[in-house]
Amino acid sequence: MTNNEVLMEIKNLKTHFNGDQGLVKAVDGVSISVKKGEAVAIVGESGCGKSVTSNSIMGLVQKPGRIVGGEIWFDNKDLTKIPEREYRKLRGDRISMIFQEPLTSLNPVFTIGNQLDEILILHKKLSKKQAKLESIKMLKKVGIPRPEKVYKSYSHSLSGGMRQRVMIAIALSCDPELLIADEPTTALDVSIQAQILHLMRQLSKEYNTAIIMITHDLGVVAEVADRVVVMYAGRVVEEGDVFTIFKNPKHPYTKGLLQSTPTIHQKNKELNAIKGTVPTPSQMPKGCRFNPRCPMAMDVCFKEEPDLLTLENDNMVRCWLYDKKEEKPYAASH
Ligand code: SF4
Repeated sequence: MTNNEVLMEIKNLKTHFNGDQGLVKAVDGVSISVKKGEAVAIVGESGCGKSVTSNSIMGLVQKPGRIVGGEIWFDNKDLTKIPEREYRKLRGDRISMIFQEPLTSLNPVFTIGNQLDEILILHKKLSKKQAKLESIKMLKKVGIPRPEKVYKSYSHSLSGGMRQRVMIAIALSCDPELLIADEPTTALDVSIQAQILHLMRQLSKEYNTAIIMITHDLGVVAEVADRVVVMYAGRVVEEGDVFTIFKNPKHPYTKGLLQSTPTIHQKNKELNAIKGTVPTPSQMPKGCRFNPRCPMAMDVCFKEEPDLLTLENDNMVRCWLYDKKEEKPYAASH
């Protein structure tokens, strides 16, 4: 159950890459807070910075990338300042991660049972016998038929959907407080996607595990999230509860995403893709970063970048169309 206790607080996170293409500000001042048991979806196209955000939270930013600013608070500790050894322990015990392709996360030379047992023995200090019983229980819990048989199987003999169920079992086996799922269903058939998302949500409620879901697909968001954070070009551009974001999106980018994404239940809806692409760092426009693609762009949008404003319903938007207090179109209030 979601309560109001904050589990993780990301403050003004900046993760930059200094490579052949110069300085890439992949995450550029992102603040997100996640409450206990809450499911937060971070949404945006490729290159918006959402996966770099999740890797930053997990302490998995690869060189030449580096967190250059901001804080990630979890359990009264700023994760950007703790040693790698402590981070690794946290990742095993309290924060789990599920990736897009389970085949790369599962070890092909060990059985599924071996891999689940190992985690339970290591983190929950169970005996081998107890671990086997618990592993089979977890496989059953994630809806795997004949769990005893799958326990003895190797990952390559399972379907994509089954593998992702195994990954969920592994991720939840240590009762983590936070589960980070990076595009967990993108590689799966649509019908299997819905089952996996439903399972994740159901188990997260049962275990009171918070979820940060990274996705480019708003259909996924509708299935899972309580709250949505929309990212564009390294910035948060809109944030709010899932109901309002779907019913009354404010930012032109969020509106564009909604119009261009088929949901699981509306596959035949007419789609309107957002024109253009996410700007590369060397082409980052002056003013609002979305201005080259925005059908609503005004003069001010090309001069100054808007701040992230809190609206009356506590949702947030970064767009000149909204006045700080009255939420009126910029043109009408000036
Ligand atoms: Fe469009 Fe201007 Fe709003 Fe940016 S600030 S999203 S360009 S209307």
